Amino acid sequence: MKRVITIDGPSGAGKSTIAKRLATELGFEYLDTGALYRAVALYLRRSGCDENISDEEISRLLEGLKISFSDGRVFINNEDVTDRIRTPEIGHFSSVFSARAPVREFLMGVQRGFPEEHDTVAEGRDMGTVVFPDAWKKFFITASIEERTRRRFKQLQEMGKAVTLDEALRDVKERDERDSNRKIAPLKKPADAVHIDTTELSLEETLQCIKKHLGSDNSPEDRP
Ligand code: C5P
Repeated sequence: MKRVITIDGPSGAGKSTIAKRLATELGFEYLDTGALYRAVALYLRRSGCDENISDEEISRLLEGLKISFSDGRVFINNEDVTDRIRTPEIGHFSSVFSARAPVREFLMGVQRGFPEEHDTVAEGRDMGTVVFPDAWKKFFITASIEERTRRRFKQLQEMGKAVTLDEALRDVKERDERDSNRKIAPLKKPADAVHIDTTELSLEETLQCIKKHLGSDNSPEDRP
């Protein structure tokens, strides 16, 4: 297992942008686990599932399925679905299906297999608590609900998605509620993570803060 830096936090806190930049700067690979949950949600929706599906049926559908992540792209059985997973509908259903045990068990293996080959910046909700409890460094990134809504709204607008600010707020609140209160692997700060509130911070300031915490451990001569 290579080195893992975990970045957890709620929707819209800016984790993806930060994790991507950090990975590039350190020469690590980037693992977006939200994209894996979104790909599973897309697959289950294509199979005609909604929230009423049983765990048994989910397990049956996931048998033999291959979900993978490589170079920032996510694949369902080798089909690149990266451009299909960033819709409000898939955002909603990824949060719904991610609360189900067979989905989390299925993706556990995909996630843990990733750093066997590369130093990794892994971003999600349960990276530091459940998937990589022995990670090299852990961060928990938050921002106020207003700021996260504003960021989410801007992101959807840039992607050409028609949403109102109110809809974006409702979506962020609903996902916070579901991700934090589910029984399995709920969103929470790992006890040994550094907490950074990015409400008042720019991307550069947040990166500086993270790099300060990585300290001299990251100098090239320290790398294995
Ligand atoms: O981060 P992103 O918004 O793409 O994640 C989509 C959904 O996937 C989240 O709302 C959350 O429910 C779920 N998720 C999760 N565990 C992770 C990453 C994402 O439950 N490690």
